[in-house]
Amino acid sequence: MAKKNLVSLVVPVHNEMNAIDLFIEKLHAVIAVLKQKYRFELVFVNDGSTDATERLIMGYARKLPWISLINLSRNFGKEAALSAGIKHAKGDAVIPMDVDLQDPPEVIEQMLIHWQSGAKIVNACRASRDQDSRLKRISAAAFYKIFNLLADRPIPSGVGDFRLLDREVVNAILTIGERSRFNKGLFSWVGFETVEISYERPARSSGETHWSYWKLWKLACDGIFASTTMPLRIWTYIGLIMTLVSIMYSGFLFFRTLIFGVDVPGYTSTVILILIFGGMNMFALGIIGEYVGRIYIEVRKRPLYIVRSVYQHSETET
Ligand code: UDP
Ligand code: MG
Repeated sequence: MAKKNLVSLVVPVHNEMNAIDLFIEKLHAVIAVLKQKYRFELVFVNDGSTDATERLIMGYARKLPWISLINLSRNFGKEAALSAGIKHAKGDAVIPMDVDLQDPPEVIEQMLIHWQSGAKIVNACRASRDQDSRLKRISAAAFYKIFNLLADRPIPSGVGDFRLLDREVVNAILTIGERSRFNKGLFSWVGFETVEISYERPARSSGETHWSYWKLWKLACDGIFASTTMPLRIWTYIGLIMTLVSIMYSGFLFFRTLIFGVDVPGYTSTVILILIFGGMNMFALGIIGEYVGRIYIEVRKRPLYIVRSVYQHSETET
């Protein structure tokens, strides 16, 4: 009999000691059924947890050979942690998941069915955002709108990191050397045959989200600046239009002064123009700064994350 396909579940964790037991329990139930057809490995990436997360996972990893643990040297953020996990995963298919059961393990079965029928990527799209606050829903919708307007490769709204990636796709992703990682953008950038399934996203099993609005804003900026140079190029057009308008207005002022003489009042319009142009200049400089900063990060070529230790059994078995 041919060897069963190996499926890697990659789970970044940061201070999640209360979520782990339940996650493994649920996963066990799902995997018990799928075990006949597939082998599984569970790769936890401990993203600099300061609570008992590491100890807890180690307890499981010692008992269950299919669980492995990668410890990062500090908190590098979810995107970096996920990249670490994807790199270490050995599966023929890789599925990134959250530990808080917001990515329900039951969906895995469906993903695998689509994978078996040839899909290289199976996106899990959340059917609704009922669990989210109004502000989060509106800001998420705005982000996807703006992102997809600007970026060359659109990303499907409602699809997080929870998806199945075939080995071919994973290998393609691993060739991407960039440091400011926006995984969602990369997953869709690589292409390949993609299928979408939908699921109901439940509330967090325990604890609180790590994403404050400020962090989400930064992630959104990272996503946009990493995926498109449109914000840079747009200034060429704005500048061009402004120059044309200015030339016409200057001509108008010149002839008006010639014909009607010097007109002293005009403080308001002068100040308004200075303020508008000053503001726009600063804004444009800021955007250039965003890119220069990212170029700096790229050329420094620091590693994306640092692995402190890896714990895994030599032979991955279910
Ligand atoms: N996470 C991580 N590093 C961080 C923040 C979060 O590895 O710096 C993990 C976290 O433990 C969880 C997943 O990323 O497994 C998703 O985090 P969270 O549930 O807070 O995000 P949300 O579901 O609210 O988008
Ligand atoms: Mg979550």
